[in-house]
Amino acid sequence: MSTRRAVFPGSFDPITLGHVDIIERALPLFDEIVVAIGENAAKKYMWSLDERKGFLEKTFSDNPKIKIATYTGLTVEFCRSVGAEFILRGLRNALDFSYEKSIAQTNAKYAGIESIFVISSPGDSHISSSIVRDIARNGGDFSSLVPNSVSKPASH
Ligand code: ADP
Repeated sequence: MSTRRAVFPGSFDPITLGHVDIIERALPLFDEIVVAIGENAAKKYMWSLDERKGFLEKTFSDNPKIKIATYTGLTVEFCRSVGAEFILRGLRNALDFSYEKSIAQTNAKYAGIESIFVISSPGDSHISSSIVRDIARNGGDFSSLVPNSVSKPASH
């Protein structure tokens, strides 16, 4: 039987407990989840690619079903390159849904890649990387929103 593999794509700037919740709850559905940092040259990040990758590696180091990768370009092309038939995404609210809907429909129709959505746990739906970045930018304590592996950004 072929390996049932999903890609969980994102910026992970930085990884949060919201991401960890989605990945852990989706694990029983797949043989392998590739957590993949999509790098966009036009985008500014608070943590470097190496730092973000390091946080992911440390967070999931004891789980052999979770692999870490980085990519540029289309997510569906990356999925093909690693033999993944599924994209995993988290949904926090209706805003996430309306953003994800047409992307998922396009990926299914033109690339044959199905998206699987997991709804965030009630206690985690307020967590976002952008809120963590706002707190970090202002020197606040964001440790309750992220896994232990995430350190303060170098430049703040
Ligand atoms: P992107 O830049 O693609 O939005 P993110 O790193 O912000 O990437 O998020 C990656 C995925 O994780 C997305 O599917 C997003 O909806 C989901 N996600 C982010 N935070 C949470 C959360 N608190 N609960 C559930 N899903 C989340």
